[in-house]
Amino acid sequence: MSMPKDPAENLAALIRCPSVTPAEGGALSAVETLLKPLGFTVERPTFSEDGTPDIENLYARLSGNGPHLMFAGHTDVVPVGDEAAWTQPPFSAAIHNGEMYGRGAVDMKGGIACFVAALARYVEKHGNPKGSVSLLITGDEEGPAVNGTIKLLDWAAGKGEQWDAAIVGEPTNPDKLGDMIKIGRRGSISGIVTVQGRQGHVAYPHLADNPVRGLMTLVDALTNPAFDKGTKDFQPTNLEITSIDVGNPAANVIAAKATAAFNIRFNDTWTAETLQAEIHNRLDVASGRKKYRKGRKEPIEFDITWRDRPSHVFLTRDDKLIETLSGSVHAVTGAKPALSASGGTSDARFIKDYCPVVEFGLVGKTMHMVDERVPLADLETLTEIYGRFIQDWFERG
Ligand SMILES: [Zn+2]
Repeated sequence: MSMPKDPAENLAALIRCPSVTPAEGGALSAVETLLKPLGFTVERPTFSEDGTPDIENLYARLSGNGPHLMFAGHTDVVPVGDEAAWTQPPFSAAIHNGEMYGRGAVDMKGGIACFVAALARYVEKHGNPKGSVSLLITGDEEGPAVNGTIKLLDWAAGKGEQWDAAIVGEPTNPDKLGDMIKIGRRGSISGIVTVQGRQGHVAYPHLADNPVRGLMTLVDALTNPAFDKGTKDFQPTNLEITSIDVGNPAANVIAAKATAAFNIRFNDTWTAETLQAEIHNRLDVASGRKKYRKGRKEPIEFDITWRDRPSHVFLTRDDKLIETLSGSVHAVTGAKPALSASGGTSDARFIKDYCPVVEFGLVGKTMHMVDERVPLADLETLTEIYGRFIQDWFERG
């Protein structure tokens, strides 16, 4: 069995598996095949839940005496979109002008390919690390994320697994390798406010109660004032109204109800709970206080429902992990990476409950797009960065 030292070969094997969520597509088998020559023990639990597709996952461990490093990621990919618009077939791993094309090239089969190559090179040169390495790979990151990382962590922890640090290989760099390490993520909550009115004729408004007026008052209270100014590590908390719906096609009717949907991305001056309390308070005050219509005495009749599970905010404070990774990036690229908590959520939000976690991977420019692709030079550079990190992290003990 040959050692999986070439990140481009590793990546080609992964891209050729059409693993669009929830399909395994052969991608986890390909990871298992890559890891076997390194001596990993590989397990592939499938998780289920009513109303969601069954998902296969992979947990691989190389045991040693010392600290335990986890590499986390996903082999599932988003759909290819308009396949005819691709200049190279999306599951071909074709190379053109020094770039490898394929869905998942940067998000994030490329990260997995580089980490495995880095480990293979390390083991060939130094033997096994002075500690344990595990790969926690899900097939459910781009989908509902119900039968993936969250259950895989719980399953592994239930068998006694403990980790000292984790690195997630998502594409974190906006423009070039070395730009950015993610050390945290904002939280996210979504809700819908519904205002009840009374339907009627527009010519006889005193007989009706237009819910749109009340909704405007409540939307204003949701968006003003600003929630905070941001912190050293985080952008300001931001609420966006994502939809306003009345569903009234008639020009001469006052509708019976109106709704506004919103999402909030929040920093660590809030928790999901304190922010929900703030929203309830703003709506309670605004609904009883402001009157758009003369003589209106009764408060605006509304209710609010919270959608989905909240994503919790987190910030990693592990100097060994952050400094070692920053140092590795700097040593290989010459760049000083920004330590950022910007952008969307990722599976790091689940991992942070088990151990300190940071994210670093390829350049994200083409992720989820037609012609997703990665320069072969970037694969080599990321492999060097991961290799240096593995060496330095275990050496620091
Ligand atoms: Zn991803």
